[in-house]
Amino acid sequence: QNAAAPPPAEAPIEFAGREDVDALLNEKIKGKNKMDYKGKSEQMIEYIKKLRACIKWLLEREDANLAEIGKLNGLIDAADKHHAEIVSQLECKIQESVAMKEELQKQYASLGESLKKVEAEQMECLRSYGDEKEARIAAESSRNELSEELNRVKLEQKRLNDQIKMLQDTNKRLQEYNTSLQQYNCNLQADATKNAETIDKLQKEKNTMVETMNGLKDHSNSVKLQLEMAKSSQSEALKQKNNLLSEVEALRGELHQVRDDRDHKSAEINSLLSDLGVYKELTGKSSSELENVMIRCDALEETCSNQTEKIKTLQIQLASANEKLKRSNLTTMETMSEYESQKRMLEDLQLRLTEAEQKIVDGEKLRKKLHNTILELKGNIRVFCRVRPLLSNESGAVSYPNNGENIGRGVELMHNTQSYSFAFDKVFDHSASQEDVFTEISQLVQSALDGYKVCIFAYGQTGSGKTHTMMGNPEFNDQKGLIPRSLEQIFQTSQCLMSQGWKYKMQASMLEIYNETIRDLLATSRTSIQDGAASKYNIKHDANGNTQVSDLTIVDVRSINEVSSLLKRAAQSRSVGKTQMNEESSRSHCVFTLRIFGVNEGTDQQVQGVLNLIDLAGSERLNKSGATGDRLKETQAINKSLSCLSDVIFSIAKKEEHIPFRNSKLTYLLQVTS
Ligand code: ADP
Ligand code: MG
Repeated sequence: QNAAAPPPAEAPIEFAGREDVDALLNEKIKGKNKMDYKGKSEQMIEYIKKLRACIKWLLEREDANLAEIGKLNGLIDAADKHHAEIVSQLECKIQESVAMKEELQKQYASLGESLKKVEAEQMECLRSYGDEKEARIAAESSRNELSEELNRVKLEQKRLNDQIKMLQDTNKRLQEYNTSLQQYNCNLQADATKNAETIDKLQKEKNTMVETMNGLKDHSNSVKLQLEMAKSSQSEALKQKNNLLSEVEALRGELHQVRDDRDHKSAEINSLLSDLGVYKELTGKSSSELENVMIRCDALEETCSNQTEKIKTLQIQLASANEKLKRSNLTTMETMSEYESQKRMLEDLQLRLTEAEQKIVDGEKLRKKLHNTILELKGNIRVFCRVRPLLSNESGAVSYPNNGENIGRGVELMHNTQSYSFAFDKVFDHSASQEDVFTEISQLVQSALDGYKVCIFAYGQTGSGKTHTMMGNPEFNDQKGLIPRSLEQIFQTSQCLMSQGWKYKMQASMLEIYNETIRDLLATSRTSIQDGAASKYNIKHDANGNTQVSDLTIVDVRSINEVSSLLKRAAQSRSVGKTQMNEESSRSHCVFTLRIFGVNEGTDQQVQGVLNLIDLAGSERLNKSGATGDRLKETQAINKSLSCLSDVIFSIAKKEEHIPFRNSKLTYLLQVTS
């Protein structure tokens, strides 16, 4: 292709490619010197020749290339055509195959279904075949067994018929026994109410008697006073009478004298008159002498009449004095007799009072027995449920059955559209007041005064109202919980029983159990709360069944005021614990214990009761997952002590011989050994 036409004279110039052309273009024309134009022009001619040859070569190459391009374009057109044909063919084929594929898929699906059906049928057939086979074998063996069984059953039936007869007899007898027991129970309850009434009546009678006695005492005092006064007036009257008598005596003497005088004078007059006659007869006596004598006689007669009058008035005075004396004697007699009758009445009343007091003591004894019998009949373990009001951010549906046997004892909860019902010995709904709850408990508190050992537990999740129920807020009357109310009742009742000769002594203690370690809530120095030297508080039971915790603060309580300061102290040390120990209060058990010692010197009786009120740890932390370290230890301690408590309660309820008190600190502390 590079065959350029050879230049006429010289050897043809060959071009292998672009490099040669570039070399040609870069060639420079150089003369031997500047003026060597000849040389330069020769060279230039040479160069032009070369350029021509180059152009020629390039033209040839272009022609060749164009021809090539034309050929290639033809080829491309042909290829395009061929390609378009193939594409259209392929599209047709693709459509066909798509249709075919759909068809095949449909077929495949229907085949799959039929395969499944066939397989299921086959399985069914195999299974039923197997079943039948087994059933046949089983039926054969069971037929044999059954015939044997039938014989045995016939024998058994005979025996059972006999037994049934026997059981029916015993059942009849049991029913009779049961009715008689119910009768007895009714009688007991009627007795109890009657006794309570008689006690009331006796108390009332006693009160009225005491009142009348007081009235009578007053009256007798006034009567005594009157008597005293009468006696003094009597003695005065006697004195007066004596005075009067002596006066009368003197007057009588005077009277005698005057009479004598008078007699003497009248004799004198007579003698004088006779003298006068003599004198008249004698006619010698003077008339003046006669007149004198006459005047003296008149004066004497006047004194005489005066004296007679005086005697009369004195006699009247004497009579009135005598009358007065008689009257005063009479009143004295009357007062004396009244005094005597009052005295007799007083003695009688005192006798009746002592009788009534004896009756009250007897009645109290009977009440105690009946009260505790009733509690035992109600069951030694009772479970109450208290529902607290919902908080503003809470929701829930709690309802109480209002008919049927669970009225007042049941509670129903709705959860995920399903309802769950529970029954207790008693249910307090959210509107129940602290007083309502205490009313139900107060009988147990009375039992503690009668010398029984009583435990009350509050169980529930944190926030469910345990502390509210047990302690409440002692500062406000309507928010006081069971602990302050029980203490108040115990003080009041013990004061009432004082009149029957009972003297009570009470000791309180309060402790907390956290991680099986005891902490004294009444300890006065705070350090002992903080370090809580664990080995300090050891639980011991003595031979009399009394429990003691070494080093525990025990406070003698003598008045309600002392109690409230005690409760404040405990609440304070618990709240100190709360901040320092990181809200441990919901993870510890709090035990309040009141020991009651009662002595009656009159009847020589003694009682020792215990009242335990326990605010348990929150029951919600029962999931161990996710807890580690201290928290795990804490959770294990709560789980263990709560489950030990339930074990103990169940074995007491089942009256088992062995009760596992020793398995936790709490149950060991509350152990009763009698
Ligand atoms: P817990 O001791 O079981 O953890 P709290 O006694 O501390 O529970 O009760 C949690 C909250 O609910 C307290 O604020 C308490 O005052 C309140 N509360 C509980 N019970 C009642 C109730 N019956 N009536 C009103 N408030 C209650
Ligand atoms: Mg609490």
